[in-house]
Amino acid sequence: MSNESINWDKLGFDYIKTDKRYLSYFRNGEWDKGTLTEDNQLHISEGSTALHYGQQCFEGMKAYRCKDGSINLFRPDQNALRMQRSCDRLLMPQVPTEQFIDACKQVVKANERFIPPYGKGALYLRPFVIGVGDNIGVRTAPEFIFSIFAIPVGSYFKGGMTPHKFLISDYDRAAPQGTGAAKVGGNYAASLQPGYKAKQAGFADCIYLDPLTHTKIEEVGSANFFGITANNEFITPKSASVLPGITRLSLMELAESRLGLKVIEGDVLINELKRFKEAGACGTAAVITPIGGIQYNGELHVFHSETEVGPVTQKLYNELTGIQSGDIEGPAGWIVKVA
Ligand SMILES: *Cc1c(COP(=O)(O)O)cnc(C)c1O
Repeated sequence: MSNESINWDKLGFDYIKTDKRYLSYFRNGEWDKGTLTEDNQLHISEGSTALHYGQQCFEGMKAYRCKDGSINLFRPDQNALRMQRSCDRLLMPQVPTEQFIDACKQVVKANERFIPPYGKGALYLRPFVIGVGDNIGVRTAPEFIFSIFAIPVGSYFKGGMTPHKFLISDYDRAAPQGTGAAKVGGNYAASLQPGYKAKQAGFADCIYLDPLTHTKIEEVGSANFFGITANNEFITPKSASVLPGITRLSLMELAESRLGLKVIEGDVLINELKRFKEAGACGTAAVITPIGGIQYNGELHVFHSETEVGPVTQKLYNELTGIQSGDIEGPAGWIVKVA
């Protein structure tokens, strides 16, 4: 198949089988050096802990085609570190940072013909670690797989950024001392039904409040929340059950260093939304989604506008995506070239 079969302008976020994926096994106490394979089917034991006890974690990241034809990875070291923390939390062996980044580069190079042209999207990378091998007891697996596959994805917003409406959920995605800060499938399994119900009710997704008191905003679906106050503050929730997003981390740095905003990690009380003049959801997949309104107890709170993106949100978006695609110089170490 040549990539002439892909209409770059119509790309969404859908599974496409690309040429090669990376596969490494952890056996007898160590990761092997891994191989690239064409086969997109995993053959694993029916007793795998990943299937029964949710012993698995994943990452999401993107490779970008630059104007000059070169290829950028955005802060892959941060994804490696986060996956190591997720592995720790679920008693799985860490993948060393060097192996992680090298595997990313191999997968990008082997699927280079699937990288969308400059400005048309990105190659989405999905690294994951799963517990496998014959087992039935509730314990850590005897063997593990670390794999990365890649799919071309489109730009999230085709005709400019459009605000979305979100619904405050009655459900929790994670427990106060649970696995909220780890990127694990269990949190996502818990979010499927609330997310489905929110979409059925006409919202883009649901917003989760803190699981202990249900008074503070924590996550926007599978993205992080930020708000901009009238006093030019960038505020994002601080909580042990929020997933530490790399987009969020990057926006915090850019908000301060490039937009001159005051950055605060703190409480976002659901009954104090009036202090925000803009709000957004951020993550690798959606980049930044402006939050037009939040529905809570039957009332819709509107931020900047239900139809137009706010000026600060737009500036943050331009800065972040400019750095990712190589048009704007980023802070040292953020861009890793795939040679
Ligand atoms: C992955 C994820 C995010 C965003 O993290 P990024 O590193 O910015 O992609 C936010 N919230 C949840 C629950 C996530 O799983």
